[in-house]
Amino acid sequence: MPMITFMTDFGNPISQDSYDKTINNLQFHQMTCSCGHSGTLTVHAYYDRGVKSGAGAVRLHICRVKCRNCNKTHAILPAYIVPYSQVALPDQAAVISCYENSESYSDIMENTPSIDENCIHSIIRRYVLHWLQRVLSVGLSISTSPLFIRQCFSHFSRQFMQIKRTPNILFLTPT
Ligand SMILES: [Zn+2]
Repeated sequence: MPMITFMTDFGNPISQDSYDKTINNLQFHQMTCSCGHSGTLTVHAYYDRGVKSGAGAVRLHICRVKCRNCNKTHAILPAYIVPYSQVALPDQAAVISCYENSESYSDIMENTPSIDENCIHSIIRRYVLHWLQRVLSVGLSISTSPLFIRQCFSHFSRQFMQIKRTPNILFLTPT
């Protein structure tokens, strides 16, 4: 399923409540579908998805929109979600920063008990296999800033640490 990602404030805890609030404020009519048409997306359905957060996992009802033009549905994802991964983007970025600076992962594991050593190893493996060269090739420095996320979408048409090629569009709220 193609995806549309919207920016979120990573300082806020991950919750259904904050997801719903943002969805209610999103201007669906301003969004562009992966088929290139704008103003063709309407809310279609919801599905459940887990995101690791703090001590456990949060289940989120993720909104799907359907395009009147191409009939495809798109998941509407907050920017803390890395498609096909349960670990939130800020946590993955923290693990990778530790890896790059040869620092200990103990603080991460302490603050986020849902992230264990296996989880950390698989994040680093995915990073080295799929993202290290990408990041180097365009000279990005990894962070959780809106700029970094925008750059990943503009250079690679996907969320940072997203592995599969499924279309993912960053929706920038007009300011
Ligand atoms: Zn479409």
